[in-house]
Amino acid sequence: MKEITKVSDDKKWQAVVSCDRNYDGIFFYGVKTTGIFCRPSCKSKTPLRGNVIFFDNAAESIEKGFRSCKRCCPEKIVFEPDLELIKRAKDIFDADYNKQVNLSNVSGQLGISKNHLIRIFKKYTGTTPVQYIAKIRIDEAEKLLSEGDKSIIEVAYESGFKSLSNFYKCFKEHTGYTPNKHRRGDGF
Ligand SMILES: [Zn+2]
Repeated sequence: MKEITKVSDDKKWQAVVSCDRNYDGIFFYGVKTTGIFCRPSCKSKTPLRGNVIFFDNAAESIEKGFRSCKRCCPEKIVFEPDLELIKRAKDIFDADYNKQVNLSNVSGQLGISKNHLIRIFKKYTGTTPVQYIAKIRIDEAEKLLSEGDKSIIEVAYESGFKSLSNFYKCFKEHTGYTPNKHRRGDGF
């Protein structure tokens, strides 16, 4: 089995509910009551959770007796290796955002070049890996700031920023506020 199929059923269900096209090609879902299977992004009415069964690929769905949906044509998805790579890259970023992330190492782990990683990441997610990581760091910093028991510098380092000036700059860019203002709750 492919490594990527470790996506949890809860995550898959979330993807179905939100019609998330990032998961197209990564899994499929069948609806037991209709006997039809779809790609996660299908815009047809969200089925009841209890009627849904997940498949790793279209062939498996057909084998289990499901027919492909006329609306999203899931059988037409060819396996998209780029999506798998992006998913794995995101898993690494999500786990390591507060460390120094070296894109050359990450792309090396995925068996592709750094430029290729940046290109496909941008193509499918609309952001670069660096922007993606910055977003996770800012979200984390906002959380820590609102908890209120850490100094700004502690928050900066814990959320993965290597310098305070970079933290201020990045924070302001993403939120429109300085970390100090955010803490005081001004403007919210
Ligand atoms: Zn469908």
